[in-house]
Amino acid sequence: MNAQIDHNLEEIRRFRPSPEFAAQSVAQESLYTDAADDRLGFWADRARELHWHKPFTKTLDWTNPPFATWFEDGELNVAYNCLDRHVLAGHGDRIAIHWEGEPGDSRDISYAELTAEVKRAANLLTSLGIEAGDRVAIYLPMIPEAVVAMLAIARIGAVHSVVFGGFSPDSLHSRILDAEAKLVITADGGYRKGRAFGLKDTVDAALGKGAPSVAHVLVVKRTGNDVAWEDGRDLWWGDEIAQVDADHEAKAFPAEQPLFILYTSGTTGKPKGILHTSGGYLTQAAFTHRNVFDLHPESDVYWCTADVGWITGHSYVVYGPLANGATQVLYEGTPDTPHPGRWWEIIEKYKVSILYTAPTAIRSFMKVGRQIPQKYNLRSLRVLGSVGEPINPEAWIWYRHVIGGGSIPVVDTWWQTETGGIMISALPGITDLKPGSAQIPIPGISLDIVTDEGESVSGTDGGLLVITEPWPAMLRGIWGDPERFKETYWEKFGDKYFAGDGARRDEDGDIWLLGRVDDVMNVSGHRLSTAEIESSLVAHDMTAEAAVVGAADETTGQAVVAFVILKERQTVSMTNEEASEQLRAHVARQIGAIARPRQVFIVNELPKTRSGKIMRRLLRDLAEGREIGDTTTLADTAVMQSITDQVR
Ligand code: ATP
Ligand code: MG
Repeated sequence: MNAQIDHNLEEIRRFRPSPEFAAQSVAQESLYTDAADDRLGFWADRARELHWHKPFTKTLDWTNPPFATWFEDGELNVAYNCLDRHVLAGHGDRIAIHWEGEPGDSRDISYAELTAEVKRAANLLTSLGIEAGDRVAIYLPMIPEAVVAMLAIARIGAVHSVVFGGFSPDSLHSRILDAEAKLVITADGGYRKGRAFGLKDTVDAALGKGAPSVAHVLVVKRTGNDVAWEDGRDLWWGDEIAQVDADHEAKAFPAEQPLFILYTSGTTGKPKGILHTSGGYLTQAAFTHRNVFDLHPESDVYWCTADVGWITGHSYVVYGPLANGATQVLYEGTPDTPHPGRWWEIIEKYKVSILYTAPTAIRSFMKVGRQIPQKYNLRSLRVLGSVGEPINPEAWIWYRHVIGGGSIPVVDTWWQTETGGIMISALPGITDLKPGSAQIPIPGISLDIVTDEGESVSGTDGGLLVITEPWPAMLRGIWGDPERFKETYWEKFGDKYFAGDGARRDEDGDIWLLGRVDDVMNVSGHRLSTAEIESSLVAHDMTAEAAVVGAADETTGQAVVAFVILKERQTVSMTNEEASEQLRAHVARQIGAIARPRQVFIVNELPKTRSGKIMRRLLRDLAEGREIGDTTTLADTAVMQSITDQVR
């Protein structure tokens, strides 16, 4: 099979950094030249920006691929780097977290206060018998204790496995078993969409299925709802923490000490327990956070909207920002509660200057319309970021104009749970920005686009994205399953990491992500990218969101089938048949007749994972008239039924 993907959708807009922005840019051009001259030396220098209890002398060991070690003989404490270090440097009074609860309660926590809480929590964990290397499951809402728990676990060299608070008892159970967690940290409940939902009851249900490794459940009081209690096993976080010592010395751990296990979102299959370790991970998280977002820790207010249950919440809510001494916003709830302007109200309230969010959120705001954000003062914003899916050029432009006031940089960051940190992104202040393209590898990252046979593709042809050299924050394996680790990522190309995404370079060498390799369509022998056709559909005035799949077709092999959500004001003016006809013609005009969808279904919702990614494989099942596959990682399992009803 030929990996080439045909494409015609060209995005020609370019945005140069303003001279004012460039003049104060954290990132400098020399990062690229330094990394090109001596890649390992470059990463060693970045690592030395952290505090090492014992300095390392070796940078990379790649003698046993695909198992890498970075900074192996060095020792550090990840939590010390995120906390004590800043307090000792005189920044104890700086706000680490502006926390905003969904009901409107809030809390400002300084670096000194956060450090003190983590010290107590570390003592509490030790008193419960948790030792270095033990696994602790976290099942919490977006409250400060989630951050405190993660850092306390890291501080004693234990390993956290954060499970997103929306997951079912079954999902939680399988993750607890897989990691053999000794302790579960949860809350009585959390707030979402204006209501309190239970969390402890889910933990009870999960443990009720049998989990012999779990000795204790620590429960944070958040909503005050009634909870069942198992004496001896269940303990109130607040009661316990009040009784332990306030002092705690952070001990040094080896650079390769496991830091966390995190299960992937499961957009394409069964989630994998991705293992990350300490020194290399923190190095890349801190470096990318500072340079990709142009962080000035003394003046910026940063906000990443991701839940700590996802990798973005690990690297860009907890470890990157705190390692850099940033001030950030942490928000518990949903964007539209109690009103559709909640996010913009928060930005106005805290004068947020850097916002990092996902295309799915941006498209949902586009759907509702610009009149909502326009009611708020968003002029504090100076950098915008995107992650999770390709950002359609139309959504990029909307983000820059409506949220960013038309002149501030938008960086599209490509990476994965497995990569641990950002791999492809523009650097604001240096790179000329191009809407829809993730652009270039960050300094120190080597990647390529190859054919199915592993040959570099020439010119602007599409192919498979591979990472050609080990990187500091790379996964160290799949928990308990080294064979699956090798098979999934390394078997295809030997020494190159296979990311599972399609990509191409344009004439300037900028990288465009084309979608999951599993989702690429083959129409009459032409390979078409889901991302490009979706972007074309989203570029039409009436479209809010679109998902495209290839469905078996007698004449063309596969045919393009699209599922489209219209913007709210559009739904009345036209019938669905008319809208779908217009959209088919629009794609044919913009990309070419070959890409004209066989069908465009107008729907109200799309199937998404809990982290907001579109699950195209379910739509493919529907388009091909098959029974719908595994829906357990869907955010809302009723969605597929409602789409099916609309389509049939
Ligand atoms: P699973 O591997 O279990 O299917 P997942 O891949 O959805 O789950 P994540 O690690 O959260 O889990 O997602 C990484 C994927 O998200 C990438 O492989 C890519 O497909 C997509 N992605 C992330 N950021 C971008 C981006 N900026 N542009 C395009 N795609 C992106
Ligand atoms: Mg993946």
